[in-house]
Amino acid sequence: MSETPAPAPLEPLREDWERMLCVVAHPDDMEFGAAAAVARWTGQGKWVGYCMVTSGEAGIDGMEPDECRRVREAEEIESARIVGVDNVDFLEQPDGVLEYGVPLRRTICASVRRHRPDIVVTGNFRDTWGGQNLNQADHIATGRAVVDAVRDAGNRWVFSDQLTDGLEPWGGVKQVWAFGSPQSGHGVDTTETFEAGVESLKAHAAYIQGLGWENWDEREFLEGMARATGQRLGVTFGAPFEVFPMGWGD
Ligand SMILES: [Zn+2]
Repeated sequence: MSETPAPAPLEPLREDWERMLCVVAHPDDMEFGAAAAVARWTGQGKWVGYCMVTSGEAGIDGMEPDECRRVREAEEIESARIVGVDNVDFLEQPDGVLEYGVPLRRTICASVRRHRPDIVVTGNFRDTWGGQNLNQADHIATGRAVVDAVRDAGNRWVFSDQLTDGLEPWGGVKQVWAFGSPQSGHGVDTTETFEAGVESLKAHAAYIQGLGWENWDEREFLEGMARATGQRLGVTFGAPFEVFPMGWGD
């Protein structure tokens, strides 16, 4: 019998930054893996803003999109508040049918220029979650557009029509971090803020009820993932991230 090799250790994420913008496809994306990390960072006094590309309006089978949009935006605002995030933007792109391309880059670029973050977070945009489970099309389109939009934001000749009313190019993003990536090489200790992450996910009550998963428990679900990551960091709980350096030489 051969033993399963221990999973590779993760390197701690840098924390020498002040502003972070999290750009994800759907309300609930942050809460399914990154909210406890956000609670840690807001607890350190850092500014974190959320930017929802869609309002998740196609996410509840038994609810019409117009009602669903209102419900899910309200749930997201509350789940953000729980982890110390007061700024939640909704970019109003169509849920379920996002397309990677120039229009998506343009709208994300405007958010990056407005908020001027040092770090931009998005969700895993690899094809799978590591095993056989395929990633979802909106996540892949969003992540790819985020990386490009971060570059676009620094170039005054790209989407230059945005540069009015004092809006300037922003080339200050040092890294893009994709949480939950199967190629994560970094992680953050979320032991102290784990409970805030659970509460943040629970705020998506209508959505979770709509999924209809029997006997599914928020804490149990998050604990399983956080414990496995924590092991690779040498702590109780953690969250994994893949780091994409955006500058040269750092
Ligand atoms: Zn999603």
